[in-house]
Amino acid sequence: MAFGFAQAFRTFGKLTLAGVIGASLAAGDVGAEQKTPSPGSAKGLFGAVSLPTQGPAQPVGFYAKGCMTGAVALPTDGPTWEAMRLSRNRRWGNPAMISLLERLSQDGAKYAGWPGILVGDIAQPRGGPMFNGHASHQIGLDADIWFTPMPPRRMTAEEREDLPFTTMLQKDKFLTVDPKVWTESRARLLMLAASYPEVERIFVNPAIKKKMCDTWTGDRTNLGKLRPEYGHDSHFHIRIKCPPGAAGCTPQARVAAGDGCDKSLAWWFTPEPWAPPKPPKPGAKPPKPPREMMVSDLPKACAAVLNAPSVASVQAATYGGPSAASALTAAPAAAPAADTDGALPDVGPVPNDKPAIQ
Ligand SMILES: [Zn+2]
Repeated sequence: MAFGFAQAFRTFGKLTLAGVIGASLAAGDVGAEQKTPSPGSAKGLFGAVSLPTQGPAQPVGFYAKGCMTGAVALPTDGPTWEAMRLSRNRRWGNPAMISLLERLSQDGAKYAGWPGILVGDIAQPRGGPMFNGHASHQIGLDADIWFTPMPPRRMTAEEREDLPFTTMLQKDKFLTVDPKVWTESRARLLMLAASYPEVERIFVNPAIKKKMCDTWTGDRTNLGKLRPEYGHDSHFHIRIKCPPGAAGCTPQARVAAGDGCDKSLAWWFTPEPWAPPKPPKPGAKPPKPPREMMVSDLPKACAAVLNAPSVASVQAATYGGPSAASALTAAPAAAPAADTDGALPDVGPVPNDKPAIQ
């Protein structure tokens, strides 16, 4: 095995160097500088597909190495959510993820004092690696939620492209949440998301995790699901478990018991995670950049997923049905929210139990 890998590396290495991928990209969601992908690269091929496959929804592989079938799209608008950066075509996910997002948005409005969520990247129509921004989000079970609340109106497509991210951190201090920006409602939204049994991890900046450790006075049972990670200071990242019956989905180990407000968090406040890479010893060969991921590196089924027949249209695969699909285009984007609320689709399951938060 080791020989085979090394050989493959030598064979393809020169052709498939993807440029330097920093530790932060491997860790989560960071806009990495992107070069033109090589022929056969997974991100080139998966990024070029505009529609999901027909048939049942299945995650294939692992969060950071896989693809998916039968994805559905989050409608661009709902009563309590708006999808952002629509041009990226990354509002696709496993139906379990999409229904969870809709439920979170509704419960957030009811229980967390959060008027609605702005949804960032979920996944590409067939999952797989992306041109930029993420190491995971490949099997439809990851989604990014902005720490910015939904405005009380429907934004135009242009506004959704251009709305800047707002960091929760103080710019002049090391790993410190900005008390002028951070609110109790954000804390409640995070713990609400963590309260769902299917949510296994939520990635947040270490400063936000620390803030939660220091200030959350409610039930701390699910605080351990909040995982400190690079970036994640203007959005948080929800990851759900492999859905029941998803045989091709590779599960991730459960988070350790406890609230995570321990030395694993304290480590982030040491110099180690922020130290620049050590310079190579004089005369040593510079390390090779990581090799670009090829379709052949993904689970075998992903090659077939790329070539499988598409659904007829985005509308046909939008969660909640075709009537939910074109909310943004069906109504004039500039129309006041009051005039268009009635036209918004009533999609998503209504929560039948109160989330376990205090
Ligand atoms: Zn993410």
